[in-house]
Amino acid sequence: MKAAILKSSKIEIAELEKPTLVENKGAIVKISGCGLCGSDIVKLKHNSVPDGTVLGHEIVGTIVEIDSESDFEVGDKIVMGHHVPCFNCTFCFGENYSMCRNFKRTNIVPGGFAEYIFVSEEHLLNTVFRISTMISDEEISFTEPLACCIRCIKRTNMEYNSNILIVGLGSIGILMGQAARGLGYKPFGVDLIDDRVQLAKDYGFEDTFVLKDLEETVQEMKLTVNPAGFDAIIMTSGSDKAIDLAFKSVRDGGTINVFSSVKSDVSAYPNNEIYYRELTVTSSYSSSPVDLEEAFELLQNHRIKTDGLSTMYPMEKLNEAISDTLSNKIMKAYITL
Ligand SMILES: [Zn+2]
Ligand SMILES: [Zn+2]
Repeated sequence: MKAAILKSSKIEIAELEKPTLVENKGAIVKISGCGLCGSDIVKLKHNSVPDGTVLGHEIVGTIVEIDSESDFEVGDKIVMGHHVPCFNCTFCFGENYSMCRNFKRTNIVPGGFAEYIFVSEEHLLNTVFRISTMISDEEISFTEPLACCIRCIKRTNMEYNSNILIVGLGSIGILMGQAARGLGYKPFGVDLIDDRVQLAKDYGFEDTFVLKDLEETVQEMKLTVNPAGFDAIIMTSGSDKAIDLAFKSVRDGGTINVFSSVKSDVSAYPNNEIYYRELTVTSSYSSSPVDLEEAFELLQNHRIKTDGLSTMYPMEKLNEAISDTLSNKIMKAYITL
């Protein structure tokens, strides 16, 4: 079968052996498409995974073979999450599902940018969902990213109706705004790119701002929303400038949620800022099966919109999709097989 493998920070199309069920319970899924996640690009650019890796985890496909206790059948169209927590460890008891060792160990084989994958029984019982309404593959492929956003909003732990500033209005920022709205908060947004700021506005954010001069933008936002600042800030984009913006825009006693990585951890930890202003700095990494199910239902019922958030590329053009994402030519790529 054809698969896109990593080779020296580039993608190459290679011939891999098609996965089989052999003695393992589970299913073989024929992939129809897979979203290109920011984390895939980070892995590729930071060389954090070995050559030969098949990236991709925002999968949509059809079950073509199955041996399982679950009620899935051959022919079922599915979308899925790629990690499964054990629900029975210190991390799981504390709801840090994404820190569970089983969560980190489990994955799909070989990865989403391949014609076929093996999906384990554990996955089938916890993180696989049968698509049962009229919805495009591209739309439902947002299940996993939306689940991560839902978990992020929940972990920000705010009072109902709080105002949240979302820093970075890429596809994740726009999903985040919709998730925030759905959970009872008022989403605001800020980004460097005019078109994205406009798109977020069209998506129903309370208000959106173009980041030009940092001090001026902070002042503009505070004058518009609340002179004290925002109740919470969600960082879907990480840079020194974004971190600076967050600390200047959050109100005393407010919360900053870290939802993205930075190139390297050189940014100073603003000890006194956090202490004297009694700020809460929290984070959210990945999602849990509960969030996946919520995200799946919201998308299936068309309560979250994704129009204009992604652009389709065939797997052969994965390198182009990556460079177009990096240069902000597109917001996100959906790779078809
Ligand atoms: Zn993802
Ligand atoms: Zn666990």
